Amino acid sequence: MRIVVVGGVAGGMSCAARARRLDERAEIVVLERGPYVSYANCGLPYYLGGEIADQDALLVQTPERLKAALNLDVRTAHDVIDLNAEARELTVRTPAGEERLSYDALVLSPGAQPLTPPIPGLGSSRVHPLRTVPDAVALRELLEGNVRRAVVLGAGFIGIETAEALARQGVETTVVERADHILPSLDPEQAWLVAEELLRLGIAVRADSAAAEIVPGADADTVVLSDGTRLPAEMIVLAVGVRPDTAVFERAGVACERGGIVVDEHGRTSLPGVWAVGDATVSTDAVTGIRRPVALAGPANRAGRLVADDILRPGMARAIPQPLGTAIVRVGELTVAMTGANRAALDVAGLEYRTLHVHPNQHAGYFPGATQVHLSLHIRAADGLLLGAQAVGLDGVDKRIDVLATAIRAGLGVADLIDLDLAYSPPYGQAKDAINLAGMLGANVLDGTMTLWDAHDLDIVQAQALVLDVRTDAEVAMGMLPDALHIPHTELRGRLDEVRAAAKGRPVRVMCASGVRSAMAHRVLAQAGYDSASLSGGMLTLRAVL
Ligand code: FAD
Repeated sequence: MRIVVVGGVAGGMSCAARARRLDERAEIVVLERGPYVSYANCGLPYYLGGEIADQDALLVQTPERLKAALNLDVRTAHDVIDLNAEARELTVRTPAGEERLSYDALVLSPGAQPLTPPIPGLGSSRVHPLRTVPDAVALRELLEGNVRRAVVLGAGFIGIETAEALARQGVETTVVERADHILPSLDPEQAWLVAEELLRLGIAVRADSAAAEIVPGADADTVVLSDGTRLPAEMIVLAVGVRPDTAVFERAGVACERGGIVVDEHGRTSLPGVWAVGDATVSTDAVTGIRRPVALAGPANRAGRLVADDILRPGMARAIPQPLGTAIVRVGELTVAMTGANRAALDVAGLEYRTLHVHPNQHAGYFPGATQVHLSLHIRAADGLLLGAQAVGLDGVDKRIDVLATAIRAGLGVADLIDLDLAYSPPYGQAKDAINLAGMLGANVLDGTMTLWDAHDLDIVQAQALVLDVRTDAEVAMGMLPDALHIPHTELRGRLDEVRAAAKGRPVRVMCASGVRSAMAHRVLAQAGYDSASLSGGMLTLRAVL
């Protein structure tokens, strides 16, 4: 049996390696257009920033090592330019000319290409993507020359990582994002924390703004933004997203949706004997059920392995799980992570959901180094099923999001989080971990013990309710919402008459810094008969809408 794999990086190489482990006799050929296989594209921004010093560290495997260890026939500089599915044959452009190669099973893992929006001047030699090792090497060589200013177009994961890498090299960097906040996959209540961190790193942020034109110049190009702002730069990095690199295969009849290859639960395409994995495919989102591309290394690797199973153990292979889109990125000293659906995805899917915000310490407050984990959870309004989670903080973020990714995959509800038996001693966690606390809050919301109001409803709340700020005198001296009544939460029980007088029959909407004291105040008010609610996440969440 001859298995031919197109694309020799994440999904493709996982598939080839697994196939060999399952079958010593199969002929396994990997065709890769570029000069390298199995390279660490996720490591490219860190190479650019100098944290990974050596280019060789990015090359996880070589064709020679793959031949020796796994008897794989890996052919670099082999570009697949046509597929004849009926004849089960590929046309390949090689350094020695065009070749034909037949297959019994074909696995497509061609990945994605950087999106190139129709911006006049984008063809300038100062504009570069960051997708491959040669891209990263070229950018690093340029940095060794005269690059004082850079503009990064796109503030997704790669754009943010690249902006930080450039800033680390002393380049004056501006990141431009069309959406109204950076890291668009992050909800606004988390994203403002990241924007502040970028500013702390000296990176200028231009959200809600797009490049309208790139004007070439002798010493620098000028990026002209939609609002007319002009940003001169010696280097412009294009990171506005990717599109599946599937034109050859779509032309050959592989069914695609908006360029992404449609696959079934085993990675099978519409053509017999042809499978596909990774960035080139569209997946059904595990939470919303909506088909979308998921350009992440973990799902590509795991799908590659399962496709090898389906080819060599038909009928026995496990299905490729629907992705949750779990992702993580370092931004300066912060870690930013997410899993499951965000607000935008839930809104598009029309799912009724509630959002919970908590900001507890990552470990015991009395142990040195305690810092807040800013954690938000989306839960199904009807029954508390976990739908998504996001977290930002200096420490402990990865652990919480990985636990929550596991919980979502397991189909847990928010109240189940109370019962998770998580490791605790003072340097590592709290006896009530951030995740347990989120579970307790969620259970209270579901059974009506707690009523929350959301920062996004601030305008309605200010128009129709009394805002009661229960922070301390010192805290409100730094600023408070206009027309809010201030009573520190420790004094509330003795000053309920003031609340009654100020509310004049309106509901009372309580707020504090993080949502803890307002929750306590809410319980006092609710038991005294008030229509009250506590601001989810407090000022830390409200900051996103102010
Ligand atoms: P790829 O790994 O892109 O491999 C596709 C290969 O196919 C390419 O080498 C291409 O040259 C080759 N190819 C395409 N067409 C042909 C053809 N016709 N003939 C022959 N060869 C062809 N993901 C994360 O989860 N975490 C991260 O931190 C992260 N960081 C990233 C940072 C950067 C800078 C980049 C670019 C990506 C990052 N990703 C990250 C995304 C991750 O790398 C991809 O999701 C993953 O590599 C997808 O695997 P794949 O096999 O689908 O495609």
